[in-house]
Parts: sequence; C-alpha cells; structure tokens
Amino acid sequence: MKRKIENDKFEIITPQEMENEDKPKKMCLQKRTSCIRCGTCCKGSGPSLLKKDLDLFTSGVLSHENTYTIRAGELVRSHEDGQIYESFMEIIKIRGKENSPVCIFYSDDGGCGIYGNRPLQCRQYKCWQRADLYGGLQKNALVRKELFGSVDVLLDIIAKHEEKCSYGALSAAFESLAGGDENAVEEIMDMLQYDTYIRPFLVEKLSVPDDALCLILGRPLTESVNEFGFRVVREGDDYILLPVENKEEQKQEEG
Ligand code: SF4
Ligand code: SF4
Repeated sequence: MKRKIENDKFEIITPQEMENEDKPKKMCLQKRTSCIRCGTCCKGSGPSLLKKDLDLFTSGVLSHENTYTIRAGELVRSHEDGQIYESFMEIIKIRGKENSPVCIFYSDDGGCGIYGNRPLQCRQYKCWQRADLYGGLQKNALVRKELFGSVDVLLDIIAKHEEKCSYGALSAAFESLAGGDENAVEEIMDMLQYDTYIRPFLVEKLSVPDDALCLILGRPLTESVNEFGFRVVREGDDYILLPVENKEEQKQEEG
C-alpha cells in the first residue's frame, strides 16, 4: 500500500488502484492464429532443409549458391544467445546474408523472395504454437547423401573427408591437447591439411564451383577451429595453429 496527498487529504491507495489510474479497465489478449508475414522468424536464420525439400533443388529454387552444410558434431555459435552448441547431426541449411543471420531470401520490402516455393520448415513454422522442430528434423532432415545420391564421385569424397577429418575426431584431438597431449597438435594439423588440400582439388580437378564447397564439405576447418578457441595463420605454404587469446579476438576471427 502507498499514501498520497490529494486536496490536503491523506488517501490510502492500493497497487491495484495505482494500476487502474493509467491502464484500461479491461485487458483483452488476442492470440495470433495465422502468419502475418512479419519476417521475424526469417531474421534469426535460414531454415534447415528436410527430405521433402529435395524438389527445390531439382526445380532450381535452391542450389549450392544459397545453401550450406553443418556437419555432424560441428560447433556452431547461436545468433540468439551467442553460446556455442554442438550440432547433433548433419543439417543442410539456407544461407544467411553476408555477415548476418537473416535468411538470404528475405528482404525488408519484399519479404520472402521464394514464398510460393519456401522450404517445408518455413511452411510448418507457426510462431504462435509450440512445435518440436528438432524432433521433426532428426527424423526427416535432408542430408548430403540424398542430395548428391547420383554423383558417386562426390559421395566418395564426402565419405573420405568425414573419415579423415570428422568433427568427432577433431573434438577428441582438441580435448587431448587440453589434457596436455602434445601429439594431438599433429593430429589436428593433419586434419587441417587434408581439409585445405581437398577443397582446391575439387575446384581444379573436378570443376566444382568454389561457392559449392560449403555445401559439399561444410565450412573450412581453418574457420571452424575458432569455435574450439584456436585460429589458423598462414605463413607462405605453412599453416600455424594459435590459441585465440580472448573473447574479443575470437569474435573478430569469426567475423
Ligand atoms: S510465422 Fe510468425 S514470426 Fe514468422 S513471419 Fe509468420 S507471423 Fe512473423
Ligand atoms: S525461405 Fe523465405 S520464409 Fe523461409 S526463412 Fe527464408 S525468407 Fe523466411
């Protein structure tokens, strides 16, 4: 309870009365029941793709120019809370705009540029309802094996790349390094070397477009090691692995 002086009189007022002074007597909460295309969900990130979105690649709506792969076990920084999470599975996603999480197809004036052909996750998402997006993704995610199913040479290269430098092996090597095992540096450098060798090989020998590499092989390890607290510096033909000294430096490394 509070007291106030009005017309030289003391008046005792309750918090309820205070509230009624500047707020409507009746409050009515209206629940949203349909999408108003405000674009809020497009600004957080592009959608993850599901098996049913494969047709969008065959029809040309999606391509290597607007998609990329997050590999199983990859450490990914969330745009929502800035924390690093480990991806529990392989996911193909629509890219964000340069240096931004906003979906590449979104524009402030036009909304979704592929609205009539937007991926299933965008169609299913209803911000006013609770939904188990991850459960659906776990069962139905589109993976590189299905996307490149008819291109044996790419499937072999993807399998070899996973065998040589999976995120499981990379995480284990960084853990050994943190535990004082200096041999782990060599293991990490071998993985970095393979990843930096195979990318130009695909471009030069198989005429794969440069901008398809993030879909075929995921992000370059020279970038993703930042999430493990390291950075790679190139000196001539050599790569040097250095610890990131502080969070500010790590943010700069991640661009
Ligand atoms: S689903 Fe919700 S957040 Fe996304 S565009 Fe529609 S109204 Fe906006
Ligand atoms: S594809 Fe379209 S609907 Fe889906 S997140 Fe991008 S802009 Fe939004």
